[in-house]
Amino acid sequence: MIHVNKLNKYFYVPHEIHALRDVTTHIHEGEVVVVIGPSGSGKSTFLRCLNRLEYPQSGSIVIDGVDILAKGCNINEVRAEVGMVFQSFNLFPHKNVLDNLTMAQITVRKRSRKQAEEKAMELLGKVGIAEKYNVKPEQLSGGQQQRVAIARSLCMDPKVMLFDEPTSALDPEMVGEVLDVMKALAKSGMTMVVVTHEMGFAREVADRVIFMDQGQILEEGTPEHFFAAPENERTKDFLRQIL
Ligand code: ATP
Ligand code: MG
Repeated sequence: MIHVNKLNKYFYVPHEIHALRDVTTHIHEGEVVVVIGPSGSGKSTFLRCLNRLEYPQSGSIVIDGVDILAKGCNINEVRAEVGMVFQSFNLFPHKNVLDNLTMAQITVRKRSRKQAEEKAMELLGKVGIAEKYNVKPEQLSGGQQQRVAIARSLCMDPKVMLFDEPTSALDPEMVGEVLDVMKALAKSGMTMVVVTHEMGFAREVADRVIFMDQGQILEEGTPEHFFAAPENERTKDFLRQIL
């Protein structure tokens, strides 16, 4: 469903960096892919290219038959189809939870307010905080805010969900509630690409683990293969450091 072919991304400021080097991978419908790798290896840049937050200099990305790098491609539609959840929750601080969840449905998906609110309440129920629909983000814990952010993306009925270190900014006691929501989402058949340091999640939920280093995919495989018998020396070094 996601075909990434020979993606190259450079940054020129403050100095030239080749952030993605010929990144090529295919992600199937319903597959959960966990991306790991050292800081600066290009994980976020890769994810950001998948919903056009970054535009690569060369290569192609086709999602469900749509060439998302095509010049005529509507960015808002791409972002509706490819939901993204960040480390920092990125909710609108001055809007309450319900408005956070309905705005893009109304403007991008052209739903009525009533339809959008019904959808929002359904998703808030799924992430376990329906009773918080009327509060501002600052009145929620970090874990609750992140669950709202996930619900907001899901309200768009995306084809794919991207997660960039969704639990890294959370207090330890809130990590579990967000991972549980992500596990349920994976079980429901959502196609997911997840950058995370949560190796328990990778082992339990990932269909495939990708290891990136210096802008390249160095190794990929099932979690069983990956954690038991990595082949690349740099993968082994990295796993030794984090496990
Ligand atoms: P981390 O684990 O620390 O989040 P990462 O694997 O997500 O790291 P990226 O954020 O993708 O790494 O960065 C890849 C490389 O590109 C790094 O060298 C980084 O400094 C550089 N880079 C990323 N974004 C920009 C930007 N907007 N401008 C310039 N350089 C950037
Ligand atoms: Mg990153």
